[in-house]
Parts: sequence; C-alpha cells; structure tokens
Amino acid sequence: MEDCIFCKIIKKEISSNIVYEDSDIIAFRDINPLAPVHILVIPKKHISSLIDLEEKDELLIGKIYTVINKIAKQEKINENGFRIVVNCGKDGGQEVQHLHFHILGGKKLGTKICE
Ligand code: 5GP
Ligand code: ZN
Repeated sequence: MEDCIFCKIIKKEISSNIVYEDSDIIAFRDINPLAPVHILVIPKKHISSLIDLEEKDELLIGKIYTVINKIAKQEKINENGFRIVVNCGKDGGQEVQHLHFHILGGKKLGTKICE
C-alpha cells in the first residue's frame, strides 16, 4: 500500500523508534504517546483493519499476542499490567488504516474504556 504511513514505517521510509521486529511483525513507539509506554504492534502484511481479517491470518494474529507478551516483559510492564486497544473503523476512532494493536502501560490507566 503506497500511501500507508505504517507500510512506510515497515519499509523504513519513515523513521520510527522500533522496539521489536521479526519477519512478520514490527513494533514501534507511538509518536503521540498517551501513556509512559505506548507501543504500536503491527503485522508487516498490510491488513486495513480488524474487519478485513481473513481466516488465513489467524496464525499471524496469534503471533502478535505472543509478541505483545515479549514486549511487555521487555518494557517491564508485565507485573503491573497494561491494556491492548484495537480501534476499528470510523466509530472505533481508527485513524491509520493498517491494523495495529496499541500497548498502553506504565501508569494506572483510567477505568473508562468507552466514552
Ligand atoms: P488509531 O487512532 O488509528 O488507533 O491510532 C493510530 C496511532 O498511530 C495514533 O496513536 C498516532 O499517534 C500513531 N501515529 C500516527 N502516525 C504515526 C507515525 O508516523 N509514527 C508513529 N510512531 N506513530 C504514528
Ligand atoms: Zn499499510
């Protein structure tokens, strides 16, 4: 996807602060952090949103959660905990049309997950 900002991050055409990378997945710090730890975990394959997932992506999504587990330990938020957020579509507030998992942690997060 030529005009996708996250595909450009994957191709290193846009710089980012990468915290994890393998052949399928990359994770980098959010440019506008909403918590002391705010990391975006994305598949290298361009999938526009959760609603565009296909059955053949099941393994990849499972792997993303294993990577989240690793990053949580790396960032030392595994003991206190953290939150995973996946915004989907217009009503979900998705701004970047490349599937991404927010890891939010490093402080006690608010209890309102929906306003
Ligand atoms: P969404 O609202 O789509 O769930 O989240 C998109 C996230 O991507 C936002 O938190 C925003 O700060 C982050 N973001 C947008 N553009 C860039 C960028 O160029 N670099 C990085 N590191 N994060 C970005
Ligand atoms: Zn993309």
